Amino acid sequence: MRRPLIAGNWKMNGRLADGRLLAEEIAQRVHRATETGVPPLPACDLLVCPPFTLLEAVHRALAGSGVLLGGQDCHPEACGAHTGDVSAAMLADLGCSYVIVGHSERRQNHGEDDALVRAKAAAAIAEDLVPIVCVGETEAERDEGRALAVVTGQVAGSLPELFEPPRLVLAYEPVWAIGTGKTATPEDAAEVHRAIRGALAERYGAEAAGAVRILYGGSVKPENAAALLGDADVDGALVGGASLKADDFWRIAEAVG
Ligand code: PEP
Repeated sequence: MRRPLIAGNWKMNGRLADGRLLAEEIAQRVHRATETGVPPLPACDLLVCPPFTLLEAVHRALAGSGVLLGGQDCHPEACGAHTGDVSAAMLADLGCSYVIVGHSERRQNHGEDDALVRAKAAAAIAEDLVPIVCVGETEAERDEGRALAVVTGQVAGSLPELFEPPRLVLAYEPVWAIGTGKTATPEDAAEVHRAIRGALAERYGAEAAGAVRILYGGSVKPENAAALLGDADVDGALVGGASLKADDFWRIAEAVG
């Protein structure tokens, strides 16, 4: 049984005080739910991925809450002359247990291709981080009827040869749905998730494929979360904009958990 994961991608948002406050608000909800049972603790893992500058403060604010911490990217190498980059080991040092790799904003704005994403995922695994590998088609690719081929192609190209099945997460994020308010229909999302699981089963075997969590991402909000995340092959969400409000993030978690 795959435990759902609700992951918040804060992107390039928040100064120190904002990040600390948001993390404290999430942690308070967890503590209240744990102590009083009202409202109950959602039956899912919660993860937040703040910008690098906020990791340490957020780590401190989340202490004892069980909310997980992740980075938004990592370099494929462990160290060296890479100005402005951050390695998987550095993230682990700050308390991260997850890292997003291959987000479409990095594929588009930084020219990242599948081979680089694969190397980043492998670097994350080498440091005992769980990579969240993002894939997703553009609007033109969907309109041309190529969504499944594009996504399964990205899965083939972006995943490392070796990983321990639960310790890798995939995120299906249609590029046209990110930050736009548009979402895939629950049926379209479920179809892509099934195709991804099928591709994983062919390459790694059915047992491994069954253990991998596949998240949906793209304008997930409290209002649409239950419908989008209701399919058995959808194991949670990668949430951008709505993860910047503790209440919205929590309500999304309640919708799956
Ligand atoms: C994302 O950035 O991964 C994302 C899904 O963003 P949003 O929820 O804002 O569409």
